[in-house]
Amino acid sequence: MAELTLLSVARRLDRCTVLGPGARAVIWVQGCPLRCRGCVAAETLPFDGGTTCPVAELADWICGLPGIEGVTFSGGEPFSQAAALAELLDAVRARRPELSAMAYSGYRYEALRRGGPDRQALLRRLDLLVDGPYVASRHGGLRWRGSANQRIVALTDRYPDLAAQPDTSAGIELSVETDGTLSWAGVPPTPGFREGLEERLAARGFVLHTQARRET
Ligand code: SF4
Repeated sequence: MAELTLLSVARRLDRCTVLGPGARAVIWVQGCPLRCRGCVAAETLPFDGGTTCPVAELADWICGLPGIEGVTFSGGEPFSQAAALAELLDAVRARRPELSAMAYSGYRYEALRRGGPDRQALLRRLDLLVDGPYVASRHGGLRWRGSANQRIVALTDRYPDLAAQPDTSAGIELSVETDGTLSWAGVPPTPGFREGLEERLAARGFVLHTQARRET
């Protein structure tokens, strides 16, 4: 019997327009070996949390989503689960080859390129990479990323016009889940955004879902 490939997932979202080009499915993986000061995703850092999902199930979920342009992998550190994510992209593109792929990483592109075969396999399947650790002292209202050291690296020619577009924050999105929980996604345009949002919502009687996020 073939071995079941599993991915440890912190959260997933079926439609998001602030973490990459167009409308995208997003998977936040669970676990990151880095500890960037000011990381807004503390709940995704331990490797022993999250939900374990079969890659085949995640592929079915993505392939069944109408109107998306692609999928974004956030975290946590996607390259800590590179083999499973590469397998996921192969399964998705077998059925929906038009979907683009983007990933965040706390590692620099050059380091990932020198990494093992799993990391290189994931790189080969991506159209866009946002690379590098979050550096709080360099925080800015930047497109899809939190600090000025981070880069949007085009790995294919799928998005040739990105460099000509304004490098300004895409903002955040709030969502209300079917169970009534409130969550948010996106790259905070200002430091301390999450704490401020949680305080303001709490003052109005709302509790933010603890896995709401994107880091960096
Ligand atoms: S900002 Fe990203 S790379 Fe840094 S600790 Fe948080 S999840 Fe890991």
